[in-house]
Parts: sequence; structure tokens; C-alpha cells
Amino acid sequence: MVKEFIHAKRSGKRSAGAAQYGYNNSRSSSTASKERAARGQFDFDVINGFRLKEVEFKSPPKKQREAMREQFKKEVRPAFLKYVAEHFPNELRAMGISDAGLATMRKGYSVNGFNVHHKLPIHGGGTNDFKNLIIMPIKPHDELHHEVIDPQIKNQDLNAGVKIKLPWSDDMVWKRPAQAREKLNAAAIVQMAQNRRGR
Ligand SMILES: [Zn+2]
Repeated sequence: MVKEFIHAKRSGKRSAGAAQYGYNNSRSSSTASKERAARGQFDFDVINGFRLKEVEFKSPPKKQREAMREQFKKEVRPAFLKYVAEHFPNELRAMGISDAGLATMRKGYSVNGFNVHHKLPIHGGGTNDFKNLIIMPIKPHDELHHEVIDPQIKNQDLNAGVKIKLPWSDDMVWKRPAQAREKLNAAAIVQMAQNRRGR
């Protein structure tokens, strides 16, 4: 029921302000939006607190990828969890991690419902450097992969490399956006601010 209400409210807003917001007026099927995503065309340039940034996605050799994944699981992830628990406890609490969760992280263990994400994935040439890592809840994490990254790398020659729009954040701990599943474009943000002032 609540979900339906949100849906109706959203689509109403969308058609009313479609032109200013820069959205396509025609109601696109999910196939059409997947096709656009595959070409790196999105109706938003911020998703779940990450801004889209153009990068080259190029796979290193398989042996190297496997070695990096192994290193990540055995050494880097535990070290990263300890590091953020030590340096960003308030940010972790704001994201929904309890004191018990923080204690778990200080031992180098993962907390249920949260994931350490490679901002540029290993199979896209990303490293295990802490600056390439961010801890975040699983749902917005999976959306980054399923809605933005995966469609752009599907059926591509990743050994040769492909330019994609990558969801990027400079943070190591995810900040929950004001809207839970935030998908914004710059024009829409300006328009919303103007609407708010006008009221
Ligand atoms: Zn990820």
C-alpha cells in the first residue's frame, strides 16, 4: 500500500515536470532504459549518493584478477574494516551500524547487510587501495552494479577496455542520501530548489 502511494506520487511529479527535469516524456519500457544504460545514457547523474564519472573499464589478466581478489579477502578487507571502524565510527553509526557491529568490524569481520565495494571493480582495472573501497548497505550497492555498471560492460571486449560511466564517491563510508534511493540529475536538483523557494 505504502509502496503504491509512493509510486503514484512519483509518476505524477514526473509527468508534470518532465520537460524541465530533462526526462523523456514517453514512458520508457525497462528494455528501452536498459538499452540506453548499455550506451551509458542515464536520466540521472547521481545515484545512491554516487555521481557518474567517465572512466575506462579494462580487465587485467585473469591470474592477476584472481590474485587481487584473494588478497582482498584475506588481507585488505579485514584491514579496511578495522581502519574505518577506527577512523569513522560516527559515519558508520549514521549508516546504521550498531555498536556491536563496530566491535565486529574492529576484529576485521564483515557486518551482515553491508558490503565493501570496489568503486572501480577489480575486473575493470580497480585496485585494492583503500581509496577505491567504500562500505555500504547491500541494496544500494547492488543497484550500482545492476542498473549502472553491468549494462555498460555486458557483451563488451573488456580486455580491450571500454569507456563507461562509473558511480563514484570519494568517501570510504557511504552517506545515506536524503532520499533513500536517490537518482538525481543536476537540472532536477536546480528545479527542485526553485520549486521549494517558490512555495
Ligand atoms: Zn561492488
